[in-house]
Amino acid sequence: MPASALSTQHTVEQAKALAFRAVDFLIEHDVPPIPLSYGVAYEYLSGGSPDLCKTLDDYLHSGRKIDAFVLRDLHERHLAVDRSTPLRSVGNDLQNLLGELSQNIEEAGRGAEEFGHALDTTLDHLADEGDAHSLRDIASGLLVATQKARQRNEHLQQRLQVTLAESEKLKVELERHRREALIDPLTGLWNRRAMDTELDELMAIEPDAPLSLLMLDIDHFKRINDTHGHALGDAVLRHVAEAIRKCLRSEDHAVRYGGEEFLVLLPHTPLVEAARVAESIRARVASLRLRRRSDNLVLEPFTVSLGVASRKPGDTRDSLLRRTDRALYRSKDLGRNRVSIDGDYGLAPGHA
Ligand code: GH3
Ligand code: MG
Ligand code: MG
Repeated sequence: MPASALSTQHTVEQAKALAFRAVDFLIEHDVPPIPLSYGVAYEYLSGGSPDLCKTLDDYLHSGRKIDAFVLRDLHERHLAVDRSTPLRSVGNDLQNLLGELSQNIEEAGRGAEEFGHALDTTLDHLADEGDAHSLRDIASGLLVATQKARQRNEHLQQRLQVTLAESEKLKVELERHRREALIDPLTGLWNRRAMDTELDELMAIEPDAPLSLLMLDIDHFKRINDTHGHALGDAVLRHVAEAIRKCLRSEDHAVRYGGEEFLVLLPHTPLVEAARVAESIRARVASLRLRRRSDNLVLEPFTVSLGVASRKPGDTRDSLLRRTDRALYRSKDLGRNRVSIDGDYGLAPGHA
């Protein structure tokens, strides 16, 4: 289980009581008490995270059934805070490497100083003494100093090569961690965190350029899971991600926003164009015909509901997301398998 922001200020007695209640809560909702689900239940019942409590309360009041996926999603959104652990270890390696490098540089400096000192002494002697015997002494002194300097340089060179190879390895590893931290492993799309950063940047860098969002939720996805199992549900998620990808330009960004919800960032795209993209995704998903390889089961066609909204003056990330979400839920209310446009209360293109 990833480290999380679970509350820790309870006494042993309080924690014990909460632990029993958390397990009872999971059993009551028919959720297996695996550690991650248990952690969310514990946090919910202890009231430690107001955002988590509100989201879960809203979910339960809407009459929907919770399961391990829903709780994992809540964990992701509200409790998982410490994904930087692998980065911290890379950070430590980097610090050691820099220490090594600066030691090498210091040593190189000391070597050059010693060599310079040997040269100075030799030059002093050259000025004082003139006979062949002392000239030979001076020459052999110089030779020793030069050999010592050469050996030291070779040694340093080798150590620098090792340090450079290490730093190259760390660069690759850092890049991998960076990518992993932003990518949803199931679909290969960006995750919510990547989206937050990108959307903030898009809104800040080009405040006046058209920018639209598209939010998508798979219709009755729970039925697919319940009927055919979670592995097939996961496959459906991957196919929907792929269908979305196929309808986008290279500058658009598709994001796995939550369990079976996706978000698309459409830069430089006015509302009408965003609605057209949404409609093409809706139609593509509706025409998917999936067959399970292991037993040739043909999955009944399934649909998605979508909402689109465009940035208006004064919009923040949250207000724009909220309007897109509202448009999506209008599609659900109107019967699913359709696209709704923010502010447009008539029927949108692609209604079933
Ligand atoms: P609606 O048309 O109203 O959206 O109905 P729905 O059944 O799609 O929505 P609901 O929110 O009731 O259920 C969504 C389900 O998605 C709950 C959860 O089991 C499932 N889910 C969430 N994440 C995953 C996942 O990663 N894999 C699988 N297989 N299922 C998931
Ligand atoms: Mg949903
Ligand atoms: Mg759904």
